Amino acid sequence: MQYRRFGKTEMNLSVLTLGLMRYMSKDPEQSAAVVRRAVSSGINHLETARGYGESEELLGHALKRIDRKKVFITTKVGVCKTYDDFMKHFETSMSKMGIDVLDNLDVHGINNEDKFRMAMDENGTMKACRRLLDSGAVRHIGFSTHGKTDLLLKTVNTEFFESINLHYYWFYQAHAPAVARAAELDMGVLIISPNEKGGMLFKPSEVLTRLSAPFHPMNLNKRWLLSDPRIHTLSLGPAVADELDAHMAVADDARPLTEQEKAALDRWDRTIREKLGADFCTQCGRCLPCPEFIDIPEILRLRNVAVGLGMNDYGSFRYNLLDGSNDWFHGWPGSHCTKCGECLPRCPEKLDIPCLLFDAHRRLKTGIGRRLWQRLVR
Ligand code: SF4
Ligand code: SF4
Repeated sequence: MQYRRFGKTEMNLSVLTLGLMRYMSKDPEQSAAVVRRAVSSGINHLETARGYGESEELLGHALKRIDRKKVFITTKVGVCKTYDDFMKHFETSMSKMGIDVLDNLDVHGINNEDKFRMAMDENGTMKACRRLLDSGAVRHIGFSTHGKTDLLLKTVNTEFFESINLHYYWFYQAHAPAVARAAELDMGVLIISPNEKGGMLFKPSEVLTRLSAPFHPMNLNKRWLLSDPRIHTLSLGPAVADELDAHMAVADDARPLTEQEKAALDRWDRTIREKLGADFCTQCGRCLPCPEFIDIPEILRLRNVAVGLGMNDYGSFRYNLLDGSNDWFHGWPGSHCTKCGECLPRCPEKLDIPCLLFDAHRRLKTGIGRRLWQRLVR
């Protein structure tokens, strides 16, 4: 297992983090077994959240049988309107986990301007964060986000947070400027769910599998991330202990990408571009904003990988989450396009955006999606 300095926090974290989101409805013994296996494999960072159902409680149960000094714990508490609310949630987290001092607290879900304002409110969430740091109950404060790049940069540039917990994968590189800025500010960088949200790579399409050979797509994505020294740790969410084994191959590999790995990634890129031809969306983002609150680049990204690499299951998994009403996955489905034409002159590729959005909807809309915690708790 490699360990990396988590930016200015100075915590020396394993490059793999055990993400405990999927523990919510699992029995305590099974959860404890996963934690024990992870720790015995060298993973020293355990990550959960107040909003993950019973996850913190299950972690508390597991912690009774491992050496607390051997692990760093992160929990995440959602942005609150008031100081009292944030403190109440934090205290609940600590009591569920049964710990007195938290290594790292992430302000959870700075996803849009409203949440940003609430997070930075010196009479609310920010006051609570400062108080927790001053009291020693929390050693470090970072943030997690499902927001757009501008918001990430704005949050990073406050220079209050010591780390960032974000989506960034080979198949989703839009946040590259935020990763670069975080590195300039010496922040810790944790990548959320590279296997699932990064492409459902544990269940790759036939095309992706063929193009990746002799590598597994899941490992190629992780290698691409970990070959970048600005990335410190990747969050994995195994439901059972045996699932951890599949990820260990990359845990010791600190080399830059090999020529063979680069060639495989190049095959992904070339195949997408060739298959899409004149319909390829470069993800430049110039088409925005859309008056109907449609995230055009994101929908066309999902179309790119579905058409280009047969990643329809992944495309549908993400597309089905679009309902415009929450800040965890932005915008309405492509079917909401009114064909107003505002975006068209802004697209340097001259794409027929409405036509591609309706096509994406036909290909990818297979039901109503729910985020993982919703699937587990309902
Ligand atoms: S044509 Fe459709 S996607 Fe483009 S700006 Fe109008 S509503 Fe939005
Ligand atoms: S402007 Fe065109 S190429 Fe750029 S993200 Fe929008 S649709 Fe894609």
